Amino acid sequence: MADKRDYYEVLGVSRNATDDELKKAYRTLAKKYHPDTNPGDKEAEAKFKEASEAYAVLSDSDKRRQYDQFGHQAFENGGAGAGYGGFDFTDMGDIFGDLFGDIFGGSRRRNPNAPTKGANVRAGIRITFEEAVFGTEKELEINLKEECEKCHGSGARPGTQPMKCTKCDGKGQVVMTTQSLFGMTRSVQACPDCRGTGKIIKDRCPDCSGSGYISRRKKIQVSVPAGIDNAQSIRIRDKGEPGTNGGERGDLLVEVTVTRHPIFQRKDYDIFSTAPISFAQAALGGDVRISTVDGDVLYTVKPGTQSDTKVRLRGKGVPSLRNKQIRGDHYVTLVVQVPTKLTSEQKELLKKYDDAVTGKKSDDDDSKGKKKGLFNK
Ligand SMILES: [Zn+2]
Ligand SMILES: [Zn+2]
Repeated sequence: MADKRDYYEVLGVSRNATDDELKKAYRTLAKKYHPDTNPGDKEAEAKFKEASEAYAVLSDSDKRRQYDQFGHQAFENGGAGAGYGGFDFTDMGDIFGDLFGDIFGGSRRRNPNAPTKGANVRAGIRITFEEAVFGTEKELEINLKEECEKCHGSGARPGTQPMKCTKCDGKGQVVMTTQSLFGMTRSVQACPDCRGTGKIIKDRCPDCSGSGYISRRKKIQVSVPAGIDNAQSIRIRDKGEPGTNGGERGDLLVEVTVTRHPIFQRKDYDIFSTAPISFAQAALGGDVRISTVDGDVLYTVKPGTQSDTKVRLRGKGVPSLRNKQIRGDHYVTLVVQVPTKLTSEQKELLKKYDDAVTGKKSDDDDSKGKKKGLFNK
């Protein structure tokens, strides 16, 4: 998908568009290109899909943040095991539901006996700042639904069979006609009697009470990749809800919360902190010890360094999620410390220094003159 258009460009909005502006832009495009208004027009259909995808991402604040950061790459799933912040088209139903009600009409109709992928499950973990920087392994306990061993997932008492639903004739769906944004729309809804399964279980399995599943507490190993940031998600395949009719399981989406660090702040792949240096170090130059995620480093301050000078420690930032070898930088703001508690000897030395700077003699007996020298500049 190398020639994929920018989502903001697709919707014709600026990068800092508000939620309302996004919604408005999408509504206009969806109305214009909706398949119902353009029957058989492939180009309109493609435009409709493109706008829908753009809106699905940008209307979700987490996904929008990830898109702003990584571009389309944010939603391409990594091959084995985990992808990050994956974009899932099965979530789209919610968005359309919110905006228009069911506008898909007949196009969404499907066979209730076809294999269907299970729903995604969400969970969260909390990790430290350093764990986010270098990656870690975490264990998570979740309730995972598994096929009931007694009825093998049918939900019916062993020896009996589920019956075909009479309301929908086993189709799992009923047709409704409703007034919507696009005029009268025929919409298909899940059958209320069989809840979309097309089957009615008269004699339920005693183990799973007819659901066909047993919920079990399971430990899941989560590999947190180096470089992950707060609010990003790790996708673990096949650890979601079970599919129906032999469909694959949904995925487990683990949202990461990164604990605040007392010294370090992070923006994208760069780290920021402040380090105190003494007045003498600032004036004369010298080595100062600076904390980084790799441990303390010695940094040589140039003579005559002013307070709030920013220095860059190259490659001491956060590794990129895409390539561990590439790391951000660590920016340190050097803050010159003005001493607050001085011994009389130190005061005397400082007065001598000040007198030297202002051209007065430090061992002058005239004490009034000394005071002026320090403060009257
Ligand atoms: Zn059962
Ligand atoms: Zn039914």
